[in-house]
Formats: sequence, C-alpha cells, structure tokens
Amino acid sequence: MQVILVSSRFSLAKSINVNMRHIVAVFGVFLLVVLCGSSALSWLAVRLRLPMVQTQIESMQTREMEDKEAKARSNLRALAARVGELQARMVQLDGLGQRLSSMAGLEPPARRPEYENEGGPFVPAPIDEKKLEEEIDALSRQVEAQTLSFASMESLLRADMVRRAFLPTTMPVAGPSRLGSPFGVRNDPFGRGVALHEGLDFVAPYGAPVLAAAGGVVVNAGYHHEFGNLVEINHGGELITRYAHMSAIKVTAGATVQRGQQVGELGSTGRSTGPHLHFEVRKNGSPLNPSDFLASSLARR
Ligand SMILES: [Zn+2]
Repeated sequence: MQVILVSSRFSLAKSINVNMRHIVAVFGVFLLVVLCGSSALSWLAVRLRLPMVQTQIESMQTREMEDKEAKARSNLRALAARVGELQARMVQLDGLGQRLSSMAGLEPPARRPEYENEGGPFVPAPIDEKKLEEEIDALSRQVEAQTLSFASMESLLRADMVRRAFLPTTMPVAGPSRLGSPFGVRNDPFGRGVALHEGLDFVAPYGAPVLAAAGGVVVNAGYHHEFGNLVEINHGGELITRYAHMSAIKVTAGATVQRGQQVGELGSTGRSTGPHLHFEVRKNGSPLNPSDFLASSLARR
C-alpha cells in the first residue's frame, strides 16, 4: 500500500510505503496501550480506593449479604413453623397414646404439661437457631419413644384381638329361644336331688340350628349316653364349648369351624326332658358360667 502525504509546508507531496508488518505493529501497540491502561486503572482503583468504585463495591456486597440474611431468616421462620406444627401433632399423639394405653390396660405414658386458660397479645418470638435445633432433637426423641410405645400397644391389642376372636361369645342357638336352667346348683330334673348344672340351657323349637359360639376345632362329635348327640369344640388356650342333646350333628371330629357355623340341630337326645340345647364352656376341664361369655349376645337377644 502506498500512502501519499500532502502538506502545505512541503511543496512536494511525500509518499510512504505501508506494508502488512506496519499494520500488525500498529495494532499490537494499540492493544498494549489499552491493556496497560485498564490494568493501571484497576490498580489505581484498588490502591487509591477511589471513592465511587469503593462505594459501589460496598453497596453490592451489602445487598448480597442482605439477600443471604433474608433468605436464611425466611428459612428459619419456615422451620420454626414446621416445628410448631409437629409439636401440635405430638400433643394429639400423646392424647391418642393415653387413650390406647388405657384400652390396652397399660401404664399410660407421661403426659406433657398442658396449660389452660391462656391469653395475651401475640408477640413473635425471636428465632434462635440453636434453640430450634434443640427442639427438633427433642421432637425426634419423643417421636422415637412414641413409636416404641405404640408398637408395644399394637402387639398387646393384637394378642387381645386374637384371644377375643376365639372367646365363645356368639349365641349358640339361631332364632328365638328362651333361657332354661341357669348355670349352678339346681334340683336334678330326674329327681335325683341337688345337682350341679355345669352349663346353660336354651329352650327353642326342635331342629333349630345350633351354632359354634366361636371359631375352633371339633374335638368330639358323637353320641353320649347322658349328653345325647354331643359336639365339643376346642377354641385354644384349654377353652372348650359343649353342645348337647342335639337331634342331629352337622360336623365331624377334626373339622375346623368358624364362629356362628352350624354344628347341629336342637333336640332332646340323652338325659333330657324336652327339646333344648345344653351349652357348656370349660377351661382346663372346669366348667365356667356361659353367661359371662354370652352377656352382650344375651342382652341383644
Ligand atoms: Zn343343661
């Protein structure tokens, strides 16, 4: 490239040859000047703490700090609210625990103090991070203790449910019936003097369905010279029920029966003066009063 310089001082025009090397050199110098200039400015800004730059940096830092603090505060507030909710739930669970343990016949767990007749203006409590952590720890411990106590209650209640499921509490005669001889001492119906009546008699029409008073296993089903057609059901725990004087037997020994399942038909076989069901409950071979088991069924009759 050829550049021609024209000056009034010169009568002649001057010409300079510009090649690629010159352009690169000029550009390089320009870049160097820009870089040095900006570095020098930055250095000066920091070194001399130029007031405007310093103020800007400080205000930026302050804003950032404030943002962070606001976020942390709002997180803490949310956490404190959660802790409050959890504490309220724990109070509810406490109440449930108390009721359940009294149902399960357990010593009720210590109740946390409750205050009544409270009042006063609402003043937001200052949130203390350390205190919040302590409260969360305390809540976790309470939850663990509560879980353990609920688990033991559950197993007790389950055991109780299983035990109750096999108690002879269902009426052994379907349809209308009236009570005959009660459990206890009575005069022998065949005139042989005072005798112990080891069961409860239900008077009902001949052929009325006789039902298992609870689930169990039939351990005896056959004829007995005194009991007539007799069925015996074992309900576990050495608890046995007897159904006597039936006109027909509907189960066989060894069969499993459900609560309320028909085991026979009411009759007057064996040592009997008329159609009735002689019903016995025995524990470890000793007779128990069937009314104690049938109380609620008898009341509903
Ligand atoms: Zn009887």
